[in-house]
Amino acid sequence: MYQNSLEFARRCDTNDPLTDFRNKFHIPKDAEGNELIYLCGNSLGLQPKSTSEYIRKELDDWAKLGVEGHTEAEHPWLPYHEFLTKNMADIVGARPSEVVVMNTLTTNLHLMMVSFYQPTAKKYKIVVESDAFPSDKYAVESQLKFHGFDPKDGLVQWTPREGEELCHFEDLEQIMTDQGDEIALLMIGSTNYYSGQSFPLKKITELGHKFGCLVGFDLAHGAGNIYPDLHETGADFAVWCSYKYLNSGPGSLGGCFVHKRHANNPKLKRFTGWWGHNKQTRFNMRHEFDPLPGAEGWQLSNPPILSMAAIRASLDIFAEAGMKNLRKKSLKLTGFLEFLIDQLHDNRIEIITPRDPDERGCQLSIQVKSANKKLHDKLTEAGVISDWREPDVVRVAPAPLYNSFEDVFHFSERLKHILS
Ligand SMILES: *Cc1c(COP(=O)(O)O)cnc(C)c1O
Repeated sequence: MYQNSLEFARRCDTNDPLTDFRNKFHIPKDAEGNELIYLCGNSLGLQPKSTSEYIRKELDDWAKLGVEGHTEAEHPWLPYHEFLTKNMADIVGARPSEVVVMNTLTTNLHLMMVSFYQPTAKKYKIVVESDAFPSDKYAVESQLKFHGFDPKDGLVQWTPREGEELCHFEDLEQIMTDQGDEIALLMIGSTNYYSGQSFPLKKITELGHKFGCLVGFDLAHGAGNIYPDLHETGADFAVWCSYKYLNSGPGSLGGCFVHKRHANNPKLKRFTGWWGHNKQTRFNMRHEFDPLPGAEGWQLSNPPILSMAAIRASLDIFAEAGMKNLRKKSLKLTGFLEFLIDQLHDNRIEIITPRDPDERGCQLSIQVKSANKKLHDKLTEAGVISDWREPDVVRVAPAPLYNSFEDVFHFSERLKHILS
């Protein structure tokens, strides 16, 4: 199916229906003006060329209108977050009422745990996958402590087997069989940032619910990468950021999903602020808190419009490309990368990401035995932007919106050259 040649890579690009989307992005260049091979969209996505225009529009309206912009701007600021909802919901496979863009990822994770981690003396443990992203682990540990539990006892880690890098679903089942009546929450990264392994979200949700647990996912490495089909999974909540695969700029706002079944539950505890209050009476100021139905009811503050303008620019591109088309291309593009790495026939190299495309997104984590960070430095010198994880893993993530088959080919050639 694949061939190891530049001609083949170029032919794939020519035949790729999404090939022109690359032109919508600023591609970073080296000092001589050559485009870099940017494979780091899993860390910070590239800037759409349209972003500055979207932000400038809001700056202009602010200059012209001052406070009146809340209602009179072309895209009024009062309901501005609503302009993001439909496109964001499509990306993660949710109903619009289940999604809101607000705050940042770790903040949203805490807000979700305020509502969905309600431990009792008997049922209080939280399961995370081992090697969960540090921020998630810190957040979960602090929630345990906040409720008076010791993380040493309350934090249960779903770990790979001895000598392996990936987690087996059967081992999570075993954890549930052994400790299910003590577990309150499963909080799993949908796609692990280190190994690139994507977990079966629906199966995990069904397993958790069977044992009376709530289930939440961190889609930081899933949103804009895999198609998580969130509503269908039945998960109780999910959180993600918009600056990785969603190309919305450093530190940009996060997304949050609350399943429809929780939309109108007044008994659910939550931390509240005026932006989660009924829009009709929000400015009367004296009403008792009356939460908006759906995910919007978890908002706290009026949001930063300039950041949301950048998100809107990016989501408009996603809507045009279509998440399912992107995933389709991604399977081919990462398959090509896998093929080329295998073609190196270098027994120092091992791809630790699952070989089954259904169990991964676009990222491949490439372990190079006995390598050290110098390998990464040499890749950088050779014009490849990738990501290094100690002790010996290079993570590369060809993003289907702006990476080409030619990018992938050049990466593998440069890696080969460096290793020889
Ligand atoms: C990137 C990432 C974060 C970062 O959290 P912020 O609150 O946006 O700084 C957290 N968790 C995971 C799994 C991530 O991949």
